[in-house]
Amino acid sequence: MPIDATLPYDDGNIFARILRGEIPSKTVYEDEHALAFHDINPQAPTHILVIPKGAYVSWDDFSARAADAEIAGFVRAVGHVARAAGLVAPGYRLLANTGGDAHQEVPHLHVHIFAGRRLGPMLTAA
Ligand code: 5GP
Repeated sequence: MPIDATLPYDDGNIFARILRGEIPSKTVYEDEHALAFHDINPQAPTHILVIPKGAYVSWDDFSARAADAEIAGFVRAVGHVARAAGLVAPGYRLLANTGGDAHQEVPHLHVHIFAGRRLGPMLTAA
């Protein structure tokens, strides 16, 4: 079910639980500001999720409230993960679903990194 991105942060969401170590994940990278792990239901040969460590519902919430250091740290972590995975030369796609029309399902900001095949047009028909 898509979430309402205007709701307050829910500390029980699945990515908050991964951050607290209550649920396992296949970690790709971790630093002060970000955690990256493999998506449980990959939509491409490489499908990594990068999340900020702070409690932010969505891209909207993060861009409005996060400190500059958190934003810089998170953006650099996304770039680092893609670079370290060797994705720059072949190419990769970033996606951050925000709210209902975008079909955001987990109410903790996450950037998807897709790669490993020709990804085709930007959007498919609804
Ligand atoms: P959204 O639709 O919110 O942009 O994407 C949520 C993503 O989280 C989906 O691609 C889904 O497969 C992934 N996901 C949901 N639950 C889990 C989980 O428990 N572990 C991992 N690694 N990924 C998850």
